[in-house]
Amino acid sequence: MKLLEPHRDVSAFLATSQGLRIADARVETGALLDVIDPSFDTLATQVAMGSAEHIDEAVSAARQALAGPWGSMTAHDRGQLLWRLADAIEANKQIFGELDAIDNGKPMHVARDVDAVYSARHFRYFAGWPSKIEGKTIPVSSPGKMNLTKVEPVGVCGLITPWNYPTLMVAWKLAPALAAGNTVVLKPAEQTPLTALYLADLALQVGFPPGVLNVVPGLGRDAGAALASHPGVDKVGFTGSTETGRRIVESSVGNLKKVSLELGGKAANILFADADLDKAGAGSFWALFGNNGQSCTAGARLFVQRSVRDQVVERLAEMAKALSVGPGMDAAAHDLGPVISRPQMDKVLGYINAGQAQGGEIVAGGGQQGETGYFVSPTVMHSVTDDMTVAREEIFGPVLCVLDFDDEDEAIARANDTDFGLAAGGWTRDLDRAMRLSSQLKAGTLWINTWGDTDAASPFGGMKQSGYGREMGEEAIALYSQTKSVWFG
Ligand code: ADP
Repeated sequence: MKLLEPHRDVSAFLATSQGLRIADARVETGALLDVIDPSFDTLATQVAMGSAEHIDEAVSAARQALAGPWGSMTAHDRGQLLWRLADAIEANKQIFGELDAIDNGKPMHVARDVDAVYSARHFRYFAGWPSKIEGKTIPVSSPGKMNLTKVEPVGVCGLITPWNYPTLMVAWKLAPALAAGNTVVLKPAEQTPLTALYLADLALQVGFPPGVLNVVPGLGRDAGAALASHPGVDKVGFTGSTETGRRIVESSVGNLKKVSLELGGKAANILFADADLDKAGAGSFWALFGNNGQSCTAGARLFVQRSVRDQVVERLAEMAKALSVGPGMDAAAHDLGPVISRPQMDKVLGYINAGQAQGGEIVAGGGQQGETGYFVSPTVMHSVTDDMTVAREEIFGPVLCVLDFDDEDEAIARANDTDFGLAAGGWTRDLDRAMRLSSQLKAGTLWINTWGDTDAASPFGGMKQSGYGREMGEEAIALYSQTKSVWFG
């Protein structure tokens, strides 16, 4: 195995003490956060670990920045800063790619060419918004009165992000929050704090006023909980597990802050016998194995119509066996990296065992791969039934569960039989059936004859226990804004 030589800026970043980013200061802390490289189970570096007091400092900095030049900046200038940040991300995509590969483990080429590039695009899309956030004049029925609306930022936003897409999940929240004129305290996932810290430096370099973006890595139960319950925070935007989402809502009640949540999923993907089987097979495969199964939108329950089941399962098994899996910084461009951590690997292996014990049959993978790092071999399990643990709980790893079905009504009912509602979809050449799927599947995003597409312009978010709020497009601006109704007599 030959590893990539890290970019000199990456080596320097890892070798330098990384304080919290509060206003334009780097704040050192006594306690440090270990950043583990999941490809090797080794310590990559340590960064400052924020506590409740640091969250307090960061919230004050964000509050002051709202009252400073940021609060009075023109829409044009705000948009231009977002655009410049997009350019800076793109120009430094190699650094983002390597940092993500080191703390998350995903293949560097994916982190650079997908995660970083799409993060830049996200900022560029939202750079166009500040000048288009408009109020209305309302034709009220009171003689001689005029009513209009002003759309204003919510204020200080606490953003709490997960480890599966360390850069992209920050971009998804940060770009609309800044476009709408808010200031931010960002608490990245404790496993993957590197690119969030680096992004804060780029934001200052391109000209964002100090305090507009503050980054405080730390533990969820400590810094995260302090941010969610802080009386000086007006809104929390969260992506993570449903269980933590519930805690965030409980923490938010003190000052009744606004909350938006993008939570877990257990997406159903229905493959009908009338589909283009080549396209549907490959699409359904990547629907799960993309990002190593560590996506809330992973097509985790693949329902295959019984008449084509055997041929589809055979194809999926071949594809899984052909995947190349290796370290994020390997010079060979692998398809997949390790899962994020030892506990996550143990959890995924536990699900594989539980699935087998309950009657699931493994046709590819089925265990740990290699001896170092947290690698799970890409696993395909068929003969899964609705009541099995692997069909009900979010595995969040490279385990594709195949269930079979006979007819459409049955498939749709079973697809909807879940507490989650983030994504769902299906594969068919029958247009009427595609239309029925689009109205009957209960999820915030549906993919028909495709999977996994997202776009900064298209709303994204969950139904049921997958959360509330839509994070992209126009709806994201609404999510980070509030409307004031003004009367004139
Ligand atoms: P996972 O279990 O996969 O790590 P989580 O939902 O716990 O997913 O983590 C997502 C984000 O939520 C991380 O940034 C984590 O630190 C944060 N977090 C975890 N627990 C809490 C909490 N009680 N309050 C606020 N944030 C939290």
